[in-house]
Amino acid sequence: MGDLYDIIIIGGGPAGLSAGLYAARSKAKTLILEKGKWGGQAATTEELENYPGSMERPTGPEITARMKRQAEEFGAETKVDAVVKMELDGEIKKVITENAEYRSRTVIVATGAKPRLLGCPGELEFRGKGVSYCATCDADFFTDLRVVVAGGGDSAVQEAIYLTKFAETVTLIHRRDELRAAKSLQDKAFANEKMSFVWDSVIEEIKGDGIVEKVVVKNKKTGELSEIETDGVFVFVGYDPVSELVKGLLETDEKGYIITDDEMHTSVEGVFAAGDVRKKLLRQVVTAAADGAIAAVKAEHYIAEKFE
Ligand code: NAP
Repeated sequence: MGDLYDIIIIGGGPAGLSAGLYAARSKAKTLILEKGKWGGQAATTEELENYPGSMERPTGPEITARMKRQAEEFGAETKVDAVVKMELDGEIKKVITENAEYRSRTVIVATGAKPRLLGCPGELEFRGKGVSYCATCDADFFTDLRVVVAGGGDSAVQEAIYLTKFAETVTLIHRRDELRAAKSLQDKAFANEKMSFVWDSVIEEIKGDGIVEKVVVKNKKTGELSEIETDGVFVFVGYDPVSELVKGLLETDEKGYIITDDEMHTSVEGVFAAGDVRKKLLRQVVTAAADGAIAAVKAEHYIAEKFE
């Protein structure tokens, strides 16, 4: 059995990294576990123009890499390892990963959210063969090619604008006749000559031969089906919480978001949640970072009251 940690943080996005920074800076013995890539969703977006102070070099990968380094410089341990199970009821919590078993006085769940799937035929078949959920990761592959983007929220519009730097044309397909995205993003999108819009429509099927060649689109008002030839399909139709791990352990809402109070306490003593996985009003990098800070401070308060 390894060391006893004060705070184990699950998830290495802005919420987890901010929690790690605050925890380590106050000398708590801190471990941040990340199952895949550090930086969470923020690391998959190139333009982080609304994170305060990020004007000069507003890239998600860079800011989140600096968040990680900052937490480490204050003493947080960071490990890539996937948590497979947790035992949260006792005074000492157990976090079991693919490679080890950890013990901790508190746990902060900052597992974030994952892209929602379209759910149409062809989507999974062509994933990585023209279907993508990350423009920052894949835009380059579509240089001078045609892409379609599904969705009408901030993500779809922001990433569609980013894709115009690479692709020859970007066609945004939205299920209504008006965008959900912020007005400033809409203005940029409508002014962009490479962008066009297909309204009131959804992608019914993605077709191709080994790689994506076209999408079948259904107009929701008329029921009419049509085909759009394309080399890529970028899907930005929202996100779902990554909370399977805490199912049955922590109270969640009907969508799976973890319910906390304003101080990030979950339904289990000594367990906190932060960031996009939490039921909350606004899911942004700035609110994720704020949640992480609060969760770490409240975890320290809990340790001081309970153990010292
Ligand atoms: P979102 O706001 O939930 O928007 C999802 C979009 O996809 C909506 O336009 C929705 O249509 C559409 N949609 C949902 N399910 C669909 C389906 N099955 N088929 C076709 N279309 C579907 O998600 P998001 O844009 O990813 O944003 C998530 C959160 O992150 C939001 O709070 C957003 O403000 C934030 N965010 C902010 C920024 C920024 O500030 N720059 C950037 C990215 C994300 P309807 O409009 O008809 O519902």
